[in-house]
Amino acid sequence: MLTAEIIAIGSELLTSERTDTNSLWLTEKLNGIGIEVKLKTIVGDDDARLEETIRDAMKRSRVVIMTGGLGPTEDDITRKIAARAMNRRLLLNEKVLEAIRRKFFDMGRQMPEINSRQAMVIEGAEVLDNPHGSAPGMYIEYEGRSIGLLPGPPREMRPMFETFVLPKLIAKAGDVRVVRRVLRVVGMGESAIDEKIAPVYTQYKNPQTTILFNRSEVEIHLTAQAKTESEAELLLDGLAGQIEERLGHSIFAFRGETMEEVVGLRLAVGGFTLAVAESCTGGLISQRLTEVPGSSVYFMEGVVTYSNDAKIRSLGVDSELILKHGAVSAEIAEAMAEGVRQRAKTDFGISVTGIAGPGGGTEVKPVGLVFIALSDDAHTEHRKLMLPGDRHLIRWRASQAALDLLRRRLI
Ligand code: AMP
Ligand code: MG
Repeated sequence: MLTAEIIAIGSELLTSERTDTNSLWLTEKLNGIGIEVKLKTIVGDDDARLEETIRDAMKRSRVVIMTGGLGPTEDDITRKIAARAMNRRLLLNEKVLEAIRRKFFDMGRQMPEINSRQAMVIEGAEVLDNPHGSAPGMYIEYEGRSIGLLPGPPREMRPMFETFVLPKLIAKAGDVRVVRRVLRVVGMGESAIDEKIAPVYTQYKNPQTTILFNRSEVEIHLTAQAKTESEAELLLDGLAGQIEERLGHSIFAFRGETMEEVVGLRLAVGGFTLAVAESCTGGLISQRLTEVPGSSVYFMEGVVTYSNDAKIRSLGVDSELILKHGAVSAEIAEAMAEGVRQRAKTDFGISVTGIAGPGGGTEVKPVGLVFIALSDDAHTEHRKLMLPGDRHLIRWRASQAALDLLRRRLI
């Protein structure tokens, strides 16, 4: 398999001012054509460091993509240093110079003299046209290496890479397609998942499996390589099927969908409607559900009842019940779910009440104690949860659990 590395150039990328996003985008694209990115480097606008980096990269990798530092100013050194690292001359290209002049002319301006630097081309390089800016890119074959020099601004870099560099690399990579699939799991920890599925996925080198924690859910990433996309998909189907046998309904998504998308789809397909009553999640569940386009078909109403009074007034929760059990209790969660369902006249009502912290916890009702409930016209059920994490995580996990309760009912 062909391996690549990426060099992101620009001192601003080393600060919190600017994040290097180019390398992430490029990695996706390269992976997609079966080229593995083994390393990326971020280098400031420094002659010596950049030269060292480029030389090392060309030693290690068959494909080296650089972005940034092709501007017209003094700190834009990529052209000059890349030429030096390859021991090649930098020559003024009259055609490129003319094209840059014309670009300025078309904008009704005169080309500033410093922009002529952008017409300096490394000996033997193919010039890559930049319709979105003044800096042209370059593609160079150097001692069996494929070297790309691309501008920093993503809106210039991306089309240039796709138009000029990608086709060349596809030809070099040969018949390798890489397809990835993301399975998402709810209600289980990373280690519990690994315990169940490691015996399965360790049998395979292809697809490759990685398990990672993302916000409140564990994701299982499967990456398959094959000659064609459909062959890769078949490999993924095989392993995903075996993982599903082990984890069952704890897997809520097989194609990276979000919980709210999955729940939304099930509601839509069944022709059901939903209302939500939230306390400690403060509208997060409603927010997540309505993030999904078309959710108006099934999502009717969301109520944030933070105070006891709001629970009584808006949801018809019995004040005696609150006095007896406290607002964070199974009884109140159920009353909230029933209340919001009746109020909105929906098929389902879900609710959350809990203690997100950091304050407000007691011995009996500690931070992280959350009750969720689900109500339909036949019955109402609740779950008691003890959620770990900070306020943000507790709120997120509570919203996830409530949506999951509904998802499992809809299966
Ligand atoms: P340059 O080609 O160095 O003149 O870069 C111009 C601008 O492109 C920078 O100021 C950034 O806004 C942007 N840029 C450069 N490199 C990157 C990168 N790796 N990821 C995202 N944006 C970048
Ligand atoms: Mg720069």
